[in-house]
Amino acid sequence: MKYWFLLLLMLSFYTCTNKTISDTTISKTIAIDTIVSDTSFDRFQTNKAVFVGFSKHEVDSLFKLDDSSWVDMRQLIPDLEIDLRYATTNNFMELQIYNCPKCYLRMRVAKAVMQIQNKLKEQNLGLKVFDCYRPQSAQYKLWKKKSDPRFVTPPSKGSMHSRGGAMDLTIVDLNTGKELEMGTGYDYFGREAYWGYNNLSAEILENRQLLLNTMEAFGFKTVTTEWWHFSYRRAWFKLSDMKWECN
Ligand SMILES: [Zn+2]
Repeated sequence: MKYWFLLLLMLSFYTCTNKTISDTTISKTIAIDTIVSDTSFDRFQTNKAVFVGFSKHEVDSLFKLDDSSWVDMRQLIPDLEIDLRYATTNNFMELQIYNCPKCYLRMRVAKAVMQIQNKLKEQNLGLKVFDCYRPQSAQYKLWKKKSDPRFVTPPSKGSMHSRGGAMDLTIVDLNTGKELEMGTGYDYFGREAYWGYNNLSAEILENRQLLLNTMEAFGFKTVTTEWWHFSYRRAWFKLSDMKWECN
């Protein structure tokens, strides 16, 4: 009786081991943007996810980075559209607060954005970002220009952008490069930009819903007054004043 039990135990151990090996199989090197969209990065960290699209070396170097590491999104997602309005004066403040347009996010957040980009690509769509990480000192510049908490988060409270966990963005059609119609432009401060505002065409409401559903599926939440703003809610990071290089 005792031996039967041991044999059963050995058999179940063999089955589990075998499964683990096949689950962690990693295919040969393919470009970063071909990573499968339904891969769970959280699961990968416990060595259980199937990874397609990276060489073992690439995966190791990327995922050894701490969750709070800064990531240049242009390097991580080469086809991410970046139109950083605060690196120009083309924003509602008419104020340039960045020396150059770079989109930095924390590693954990960046991984979620990769998944979103791949999910959208199934419909030949992609993300276009208007703002990402915003150093605390840049937040002070905004606050100095407009000290009104309805429009600018007080630096003393700390914007989610200054934690490297928020983005302002929209969806673009990858065939035409055009933004999907969302009812207002970025940084339009009025009721038409509210999520609760429904006096919009069916197409616009559908586009907004697609943006909301996609972002929420990967851990982001929006705010009631800005359809373009999303903060990552599955991790929390410290306020930062890290400043990026411009060359
Ligand atoms: Zn924002």
